[in-house]
Amino acid sequence: MYLTHLECPRCGREHDAGVLQNLCECGSPLLARYDLAAAARVVEPERFGLRPADLWRYRELLPVADPRNVTTLGEGWTPMLRVPAYGADIGIDELLVKDEGLTPTGSFKARGAAVGVSRARELGVRRIAMPTNGNAGAAWATYATRAGLGATIVMPLSAPTICRQECLAAGADLRLVDGLIGDAGRQVAALVAASDGTVFDAGTLREPYRLEGKKTMGFEIVEQLGWQVPDVIIYPTGGGVGLIGIHKALGELRELGWVEDKLPRLVAVQSTGCAPIVRAFAAGDDRARPWEDAHTVAFGITVPAPLGDELILAALRATAGTAIAVDDAEILTDLRDFAAREGLLLCPEGAACLTAARRLRACGWIRAGERVVVLNTGAGVKYPETIDVSGVPVLPR
Ligand SMILES: *Cc1c(COP(=O)(O)O)cnc(C)c1O
Ligand SMILES: [Zn+2]
Repeated sequence: MYLTHLECPRCGREHDAGVLQNLCECGSPLLARYDLAAAARVVEPERFGLRPADLWRYRELLPVADPRNVTTLGEGWTPMLRVPAYGADIGIDELLVKDEGLTPTGSFKARGAAVGVSRARELGVRRIAMPTNGNAGAAWATYATRAGLGATIVMPLSAPTICRQECLAAGADLRLVDGLIGDAGRQVAALVAASDGTVFDAGTLREPYRLEGKKTMGFEIVEQLGWQVPDVIIYPTGGGVGLIGIHKALGELRELGWVEDKLPRLVAVQSTGCAPIVRAFAAGDDRARPWEDAHTVAFGITVPAPLGDELILAALRATAGTAIAVDDAEILTDLRDFAAREGLLLCPEGAACLTAARRLRACGWIRAGERVVVLNTGAGVKYPETIDVSGVPVLPR
């Protein structure tokens, strides 16, 4: 394993990666650091292509020492689909959708759960607890069970029913709160504090390894493009772990010398019903203020006060990217238009990225001829209510 230590991106302090860690004393999430020079001596990009089609193909750049701790359901190496018909409609000839809907548990959250649970198991965790908007809880409950760990999952009452069902199916201790993810977070904090060290807080960015799983989306995008970077990557941003992870992956690939210096412009997409990052980005702020009265159909991105706000904003600025808010009506229209054109049913968060692509092309921010990758972060079939079937005629017998 090439993991060397954990580093605080805010105060620079180093932390021991060999023991369980949550946030830095200064309150910032921690980032895993590797001896990349040593990794580069044992593996080269061409080698990955000879390995199994899952995210563990990048094992030298992941934080699990003993392969026996690897907890897997075959996550990763999702398709990068060309969508030329819809692309032509919106003026982006090289539009690609990376379809995370095919990941176990139906969302890219499985990447973070696979790596996070594997490392937690390696460091001796017996039970994890986390607040969630649904998909993360479903994924962590599933992988925890597979690793033989307990899971306590707290989610808002309004989270998708399917995610509750997944948690129960996986035997998790599921609790519901009549509130938002922040309220669920307070419940988890109290529970962890009262547990006397027996329950590990695995909330978004509160432990460093979920991010490591999610960064593999960045490795895959580049490998699937033949070790080239696209011009733009568009990501539906809630807690922002995927966006921070893709940015981290690109930085590591650059340090390894496996990609050119130019980085893709990263775009954070939020809903007009919950857009703390968009507001902070537009104001030129380094931190985001909590969003009041958050609500949107894109439930996965309803995060009023993301813990990784600083890292998200820094990633957008470092790549000359941007942040854009789209409204629910547009999201649902684009979801249906896209499905009717390309046959692929997106999750609302993925559809929000298409809305962003369409709008950014229309205003010229995306230029003609640019190659654009959109992340569809979950399976459309997890959200059947986006398609209204009540108007379908019933034929007489
Ligand atoms: C969690 C989630 C997101 C947001 O992911 P972050 O990395 O936390 O920003 C987007 N889409 C779906 C479907 C999700 O479940
Ligand atoms: Zn710190």
